[in-house]
Amino acid sequence: MSLLEHEELLVHRGERSGLSMAIAIHSTALGPALGGARLWRYRALGDAIADALRLSEAMTYKAAAAGLELGGGKAVLCVPPDRELSADDRRDLMLDLGDAVESLEGRYVTAEDVGTGTGDMAIVGERTGHVVGRPADSGGSGDPSPVTARGVEAAIRACCEHRYGSNDLDGRVVTIVGLGHVGLALAERLAAAGCELRVSDIDDGKREAAGRLGSLWVDPEGATGTECDVFAPCALGGAISRQSIDQLRCEIVCGSANNVLADDSLAAALDERRILYAPDFIANAGGLINVYGELRELGRDEVDELVDGIGSALGRVFEVASARSVTPLEAAKEVAEEALDAASVVSP
Ligand code: NAD
Repeated sequence: MSLLEHEELLVHRGERSGLSMAIAIHSTALGPALGGARLWRYRALGDAIADALRLSEAMTYKAAAAGLELGGGKAVLCVPPDRELSADDRRDLMLDLGDAVESLEGRYVTAEDVGTGTGDMAIVGERTGHVVGRPADSGGSGDPSPVTARGVEAAIRACCEHRYGSNDLDGRVVTIVGLGHVGLALAERLAAAGCELRVSDIDDGKREAAGRLGSLWVDPEGATGTECDVFAPCALGGAISRQSIDQLRCEIVCGSANNVLADDSLAAALDERRILYAPDFIANAGGLINVYGELRELGRDEVDELVDGIGSALGRVFEVASARSVTPLEAAKEVAEEALDAASVVSP
């Protein structure tokens, strides 16, 4: 990746907070560059800039693959390792972010991401209108997790259709790793659809919710090796690595986690084991669609329809993968690039 592939990079030190931030706009070919604001600790500003460049590019692909009229961007708020943020510091930082976003005149729209939340976006909204993911009581779309879970269910159904010839989930055995905001909402949906659930979390406090759903609790150490139809990683990234891939005893991998594969070459390794992989940036696009709905002022039904469309988008990816003998991950990137190429033909 090089900066030459990006349209714009803003590096800015906030007047109030004194903290640095980087906003990268990878592409606006399909629409305004939307991507969350990540608050993270960095030793050097260069590391934050590299993250903003990498993550903004991923957002371009995610939006294009989901068929949204959105480009890719990302903001990274750089907090030094030794600096504690008080509530006032945090507020100052969000106001500074709002000013930086406003200076980009709508080419970049910010949202919540790792380290930020809906309350932060409400503060950003005091300085700019180019923000989504605000709390529901401030006119925003609120917590995206239930919508993300709906999209993951649509993706699992598309996987089952491709692998078994039916998208009926009744009796399918699904292992969910990570019973957090998305994992729990997904578990509730899948239980209602008749799935047999195996669930796992490093937080033992989640056992109660697991019991309530009638699911079987699996200790985190053994979760990857649980025999099932669908393995749904809903915790952190890197669930499938060179070390863990041989433990898998499933036919499908489809969950909400970002960066499910520790590296992209594992997509081919899954193919060799005849395990169908739903690329993460398609399966978890519900969260992005949720804020897209806020940006476009769509109604709940329209958002739900777009989220359910994740199933057909994934079905097309599997068709392209079969037709061109490539992995679903390569096919998903091709589908996204086709959408970007078509846009650049229309708007020179
Ligand atoms: P969360 O923090 O609410 O939940 C994560 C859960 O995973 C927690 O309960 C945690 O205890 C558990 N966990 C962490 N490490 C684990 C391990 N090694 N084994 C088992 N459990 C473990 O997060 P979330 O909002 O539910 O997001 C889950 C994943 O989905 C993340 O990767 C996130 O980036 C991705 N995602 C979330 C959304 C959304 O709408 N929230 C949208 C797109 C992608």
